[in-house]
Amino acid sequence: MSVHSKLYEGKAKILYTTDDPEVLLADFKDDATAFNAQKRGSILGKGRINCSIASQLFQQLELSGIKTHFIDNPQPHQMRVKAVKILPLEVVVRNIAAGSLCQQTGLALGTVLKQPLVEFYYKNDQLGDPLLTRDRLLLMELATAEQVDEITHLALQINEFLKEFWLGCGITLVDFKLEFGLDSQQQILLADEISPDTCRLWKTTETDPNRRVLDKDRFRKDLGNVEDAYEEVLQRVLQAVETKK
Ligand code: UDP
Repeated sequence: MSVHSKLYEGKAKILYTTDDPEVLLADFKDDATAFNAQKRGSILGKGRINCSIASQLFQQLELSGIKTHFIDNPQPHQMRVKAVKILPLEVVVRNIAAGSLCQQTGLALGTVLKQPLVEFYYKNDQLGDPLLTRDRLLLMELATAEQVDEITHLALQINEFLKEFWLGCGITLVDFKLEFGLDSQQQILLADEISPDTCRLWKTTETDPNRRVLDKDRFRKDLGNVEDAYEEVLQRVLQAVETKK
């Protein structure tokens, strides 16, 4: 596979075109940002770790019948993916109250939600990724009503699968963000990544609010040991996948 030109550089990944117009190469970076890129830094090894975690999770999801953009890994920090048109939506699923849900509703951190909450945010850095209502989303034609319904259904299915998977790793899935894209046949595929950058992951046996954190909140809140936490998540994922075989 020959890599052509840089198509797009995001905060965590660089996308390259390849000799196949249906295939892109995603190169995962060690760069880390938070609070809409107001906080910047680097997490050593993050590119390799997140790419490896996301690749394992996409393969597990594919086995459970969820269509993703994943193809393979030419390098540990690189993922070949099906070219899709990313919908400008951040789809957040929450099982436990944390982050912006606590800030905006007053719910206490750690409140277990009676049922998963699916939310749509407008993927637009200039506007600060605002929370959308279904009607606003449709008004702005960010997706069709059918697509919103399908994405909601997929997000809940993915949540059920991931909750179980992470539990098998001794990790509680608090919340996470998904992105979806449309392939050349207008099929909806799960895209982007699923990693400690995009999920809140708490060590199940740990109750201390700082020690339990195994995700980007360690970087956001300067909790230290960020690299170790990411590496621990990867090792737990690899072990869970091995046990499943
Ligand atoms: N998230 C993300 N990218 C974003 C915003 C949120 O991956 O641009 C993830 C975040 O890591 C968390 C979930 O989505 O797992 C919910 O985030 P929240 O809305 O609570 O925002 P935050 O507190 O992270 O600003």
